[in-house]
Amino acid sequence: AMRHLPYFCRGEVVKGFGRGSKELGIPTANFSEQVVESFPSDISTGIYYGWACVGNGDVHKMVLSIGWNPFYKNIKKSVETHIIHTFKEDFYGEILSIVITGYIRPEKNFDSLEALISAIQEDIEEAKRQLDLPEHLKLKEDNFFNLPEGKTVNNH
Ligand code: ADP
Ligand code: MG
Repeated sequence: AMRHLPYFCRGEVVKGFGRGSKELGIPTANFSEQVVESFPSDISTGIYYGWACVGNGDVHKMVLSIGWNPFYKNIKKSVETHIIHTFKEDFYGEILSIVITGYIRPEKNFDSLEALISAIQEDIEEAKRQLDLPEHLKLKEDNFFNLPEGKTVNNH
């Protein structure tokens, strides 16, 4: 799972398939199918962590899931980023830049919604801890996140 890391990726945030992540308090910004197709085909599904920024905004910690996309009958992957930050508004159509720096665990099925939510909360805590370590922290400052001066993304 670590072979492709760190992995840099930039793309538009699209509508997901409405699994109600936001209702669980854990919204996930979905990348388009085209961006997902650009990922290494042998990258492991599961839960990862790293850094994310929307447009030319601040860089925040994130957890990311690479999973099988039920919308495509589980033959295509989905890549969904939960940014560990409270945003005032949705940002569909904006450009999301991420660097994936570490891997937490494989995909799992849960017996209950409560079990799923508490697993995700643990993933978030694990991500926060790991990202404070120098080898992960250093990628927060990567030039990848510095869009060229004066260049606007989606008018922001
Ligand atoms: P969808 O099925 O359309 O992906 P979600 O319930 O997963 O719906 O919500 C995702 C959307 O919520 C994102 O596309 C983004 O516009 C918004 N959003 C707000 N806060 C966050 C956040 N902290 N992390 C990710 N997305 C967020
Ligand atoms: Mg989503």
